[in-house]
Amino acid sequence: MAEELFNSFMTGPDEQGRFGDFGGRFVSETLMPLILDLEAEYENAKTDDSFWAQMNDLWTNYVGRPSPLYYADRLTKHCGGAKIYLKRDELNHTGAHKINNVLGQIILARRMGKSRIIAETGAGQHGVATATVCAKFGLKCVVYMGYHDVERQAPNVFRMKLLGAEVVPVTSGRGTLKDAMNDALRDWVTNVEDTFYCIGTVAGPHPYPAMVRDFQAIIGKEAKEQMLQQEGRFPDTLIAAIGGGSNAMGLFYPFLDDKEVGIIGVEAGGKGVNAKMEHCASLIGGRPGVLHGNRTFLLQDDDGQILEGFSISAGLDYPGIGPEHAWLHEIGRAEYVSITDVEALEAFQICCELEGIIPALEPSHALAHVLKIAPNLPKDHLICMNMCGRGDKDIFTVAAALGIEINTGA
Ligand SMILES: *Cc1c(COP(=O)(O)O)cnc(C)c1O
Repeated sequence: MAEELFNSFMTGPDEQGRFGDFGGRFVSETLMPLILDLEAEYENAKTDDSFWAQMNDLWTNYVGRPSPLYYADRLTKHCGGAKIYLKRDELNHTGAHKINNVLGQIILARRMGKSRIIAETGAGQHGVATATVCAKFGLKCVVYMGYHDVERQAPNVFRMKLLGAEVVPVTSGRGTLKDAMNDALRDWVTNVEDTFYCIGTVAGPHPYPAMVRDFQAIIGKEAKEQMLQQEGRFPDTLIAAIGGGSNAMGLFYPFLDDKEVGIIGVEAGGKGVNAKMEHCASLIGGRPGVLHGNRTFLLQDDDGQILEGFSISAGLDYPGIGPEHAWLHEIGRAEYVSITDVEALEAFQICCELEGIIPALEPSHALAHVLKIAPNLPKDHLICMNMCGRGDKDIFTVAAALGIEINTGA
């Protein structure tokens, strides 16, 4: 580990937005002034008590924070080793961690006098969180979504419409999340005056990866305090699932300088990382390149074409990973592993049956890794896993995967 080189792991990114060789700001000249504006406003808000007072008020009274840190005693007994704690971010309003970050960006947009919010969404979770907060503040909301995803995620499309958002199906490229992000960036450049681009994970050009991380860091700050209260010390191992990496960065960040705390990120292994790129493990199965304004590990073919990736979990289906994760991987501060669809499905069912919690398929990947390592760890080893979303949205996918027919009454 390159530990000696760093006095603190929490000082990144540098002025250019780089975490080591990753991150940065690879954007067109037309986009640059917008990005610099946003950075200035965020720097200003970061040290403004009234900004955080407003965030805390909404986190408490609108989102339902703090989320509990729950000792999963039956999962722990089932494994017979480490003590398993779940950080219950699935209990947030809208059912996942996404809203922690959306609130921050929308309060920022209001400070900047913007009246129109645009967002990209894959599975629709970030789109729903954005449409929700826009409704709450009476802001116009436009969500870009690949046309494939519009078809696959009909319930979330309807939710966004109920919340007053306009959903734009993206047909450029291959009509997926990557293309939706490109179209959102184009919209931003065209509508500079009134528009704010709300990104849903720790990706995009600087300052997005750091800003989104800072908003999600409420997860780790709470977990730290709660673990101290319940166990009198920090956890030994943190575990979280990674799509773009925002819920994971949120849990990990406040612990980066506590070197006794082990950190594990879990990527989506799909059908297996060796099987013809039918996975979304960007760190383990990809290599560095530039996408969406930052340099990071990407799934790409030999010619550098970005590949789509595959996972049973639509929320992990992003061909890149946040640049800070790429850096933590490179310097060895965090470990990254992958979990297959089959393993995640099994963990999903075990969680339902043993804890009465229906998890989203994304954190089911994290849980599958917990179930793998907990049996071999001592009984006083403390694991803290981020239960970043609930599984209501996934029951039809799970039913199909298990070969069960659900009568929806439709
Ligand atoms: C969107 C989403 C993810 C993936 O995004 P990250 O930025 O990696 O956190 C994971 N879990 C849930 C429940 C999601 O909605």
